[in-house]
Amino acid sequence: MRGEIVVREGWENNLRGVTLRVPLGRLTVVTGVSGSGKSSLVFGTVAAESQRQLNEVFPWFVRNRLPRYERPKFAAMENLTPAIVVDQRPVGGGARSTVGTMTEVNPVLRVLFSRCGRPSAGGSNRYSFNDPEGMCPECQGLGRTARLDVTRLLDESRSLNEGAILHPAFAVGTNYWKRYAEARRYEGADGPRWEDAAPLFDPDKPLRAYTPAERELLLHGEGFRTQRPHRPAGGEGFESIAVNDYEGLVPRFTRRFITPGVESLSERDRKHAERFVSDVECPGCEGTRLNERARASRIEGRTLPELCGWEIRELVEWLAGARVARDPVGGPAVAAALAVLRRIDAVGLGYLSLDRPTRTLSGGEGQRLKTVRHPGSSLTGMTYVFDEPSVGLHARDVERLGGLLRALRDKGNTVLVVEHAREVIALADHVIDMGPGAGGDGGEVVFEGTVEELAASGTVTGERFRSRTGLKPAARRRPPTGKLAVRNASLHNLRNVSVDFPTGVLTVVTGVAGSGKSTLVTRMLAAACPWAAVLDQSAAGISSRSTPATYTDIWDPVRRMYARAHGTEPGLYSFNSAGACPECRGRGTITTDMAFMDPVTTVCEACEGRRFREEVLGHRVVGRNVAELLAMTVDEALDHFAALAADPECPDRTVPPLVLSRLAPLREVGLGYLTLGRSLSELSGGERQRVKLAHRLDESGAVLLFDEPTTGLHMADVTRLLALFDRLVDAGNTVVVVEHDLDVVKHADHVIDIGPEAGAHGGRVVFTGTPEEMARTAQTHTAEYLRRSLG
Ligand code: ADP
Ligand code: ADP
Ligand code: ZN
Ligand code: ZN
Repeated sequence: MRGEIVVREGWENNLRGVTLRVPLGRLTVVTGVSGSGKSSLVFGTVAAESQRQLNEVFPWFVRNRLPRYERPKFAAMENLTPAIVVDQRPVGGGARSTVGTMTEVNPVLRVLFSRCGRPSAGGSNRYSFNDPEGMCPECQGLGRTARLDVTRLLDESRSLNEGAILHPAFAVGTNYWKRYAEARRYEGADGPRWEDAAPLFDPDKPLRAYTPAERELLLHGEGFRTQRPHRPAGGEGFESIAVNDYEGLVPRFTRRFITPGVESLSERDRKHAERFVSDVECPGCEGTRLNERARASRIEGRTLPELCGWEIRELVEWLAGARVARDPVGGPAVAAALAVLRRIDAVGLGYLSLDRPTRTLSGGEGQRLKTVRHPGSSLTGMTYVFDEPSVGLHARDVERLGGLLRALRDKGNTVLVVEHAREVIALADHVIDMGPGAGGDGGEVVFEGTVEELAASGTVTGERFRSRTGLKPAARRRPPTGKLAVRNASLHNLRNVSVDFPTGVLTVVTGVAGSGKSTLVTRMLAAACPWAAVLDQSAAGISSRSTPATYTDIWDPVRRMYARAHGTEPGLYSFNSAGACPECRGRGTITTDMAFMDPVTTVCEACEGRRFREEVLGHRVVGRNVAELLAMTVDEALDHFAALAADPECPDRTVPPLVLSRLAPLREVGLGYLTLGRSLSELSGGERQRVKLAHRLDESGAVLLFDEPTTGLHMADVTRLLALFDRLVDAGNTVVVVEHDLDVVKHADHVIDIGPEAGAHGGRVVFTGTPEEMARTAQTHTAEYLRRSLG
């Protein structure tokens, strides 16, 4: 393929009229410091324009129903080919989506079982857990069911009269409570009246004093009737007797709060019920999701759920060696399954099983799984766009990823990759370097050419690319102050792992993807040390309406300052309340859900994206309204408030110093290019993690756990991050980092290497010690790549 995609005068976000040339049919890597404009160019301009043009192919009557896509800001584009974006957005797909359904291996295995399984369960849907013909009837094919957790429902030290049943619907005095506390046996109209009948329970006896029979009666009793006095509301004495079929607490709770399904409960009922319900493996199908007939069918002694529970690598071996692979009926299905399974293994995910729910995959794992679908496709002449595909990958795994990217290219596609890792840049046919700085200091192409030319160039990326970082001098290594012990940890693939994490130092945990690093640190160490703070890339703790302004708590004082200056209410200066543009309710954009496509977001026409009511925009303090403040980057805001502090017209002298001290950490973690009003929910995972880090910079004596903090960071940014880690450790903190970036490993005081391989072949501690010791003696994958990178 000849020619190139050309973008002329790109102006999206911080781009400064850049011209971009991407050779068709080549592997191009776009790199540059974070915030330099890589995403604005690749995703915001090239991929977005491709999507928009594809939309225009629809006939007018469909197009009229589609919201208008904003045209990215550029002057001209040539030779654009259809783009497929493979990003790190969660795979999602809900509870019914597994690795097997997403990669479409399951349908192939179903065909195999319907043809060759004995006894056969029938035609293929009979093996599908997403079809009524195949699903377990008890859990509807989900593999898990909600169960009342009795230990959480009851306070055994209390009696019924003291409120032993903790769910509010059963509070003392309620009708639900009366059915237990006041009920007596009813033997029919001729039996004893309520006054004379025997009580079911002694309402003053603590539950822990109940006999086993009483306990059974309370929880599961059934098959008889009860009577209790029924008083009209506010009445005296009682007028009638209410007769009911008795129902134990467990069936009653289940029928009322679990069986209807969470969707049909009120918000309040759902919140209450959640506290008492746990999600357990379905006892009907033992978590396999399939009904009995589908589970009984075997091929060469193995059932479908068994095969789906194996590691994909083992499944490949078994299928390739099975007799059915050479059988004319089963052979084609086996070959089709093997083709996909081998690709999953080739991108380093051979440690997953087909029954793994996709919502438990990390962003990087999900992205690699998405790539698996493409090389099999017969589409050529496409542009594949990848967002930092090396995330979560050890240097060893990156080599395999390179094979996949090249395979896509060799099928006649253009491959465009935004990436920082040296190992991936080295694979490129063509490199584009954005910069020179971030935000307003970036937005230009500072280099384009081959890898060799990059290494010889004087750009920041070129320098970092050719230099080899050495080990941190032993003299600068700090002695530990103590240790945090993890003992006999067994979760996911960890088996009985015991390891010490030294305190007061920087520990880096390494190992190939899927070896068990995250499980060890973010689950087991976090559990052993509950006061530790986990700084990961999730959006947990960040509301969808958070911005740098709200997250750093500067917006309240700023609003009060504006209110004081204009004699108004502070709420007027918030786009989450009174000041909000009524059209978009303060979001600045309008998102429309579409049945068959991704939802589409357009800028609100009423406020032109400024989020505020018209009148609010007229209120200025020293020349600026609040919408203009929110449009400032952190760097600009630091300058603005520094000037405000010195301005005699500043309406409140206490505000500028406060704002300055709270914003400075964002600059220090390299996020000075973020605007104050940027929605934190639209940040990349790596940026979100650095926002959390900024919040913790002044900590001392804390235990801070990071999961892959170099995500989204250019090699030069990594150096700054290491300086921040040093600062945290010098202030008396313990820092533990899961990381595969070798520059970070070289900087560690202590290294813990997990492996030797992924999944069931990993989960052990294969090395602990200093980076020098690792480079000198260790026989692990990490040690090997560490030695190579030291030259
Ligand atoms: P990179 O991909 O190199 O990290 P980006 O293209 O994401 O850089 O960002 C370049 C600049 O554009 C930054 O200053 C960033 O804050 C700004 N920017 C990116 N996305 C948006 C957005 N949705 N709204 C406002 N500014 C944005
Ligand atoms: P790493 O951080 O080294 O990449 P992980 O700790 O994420 O490795 O995974 C270790 C093993 O545990 C892998 O086999 C992975 O598939 C498995 N695993 C991780 N998370 C889950 C989960 N939520 N459910 C089941 N298995 C999991
Ligand atoms: Zn089931
Ligand atoms: Zn609006």
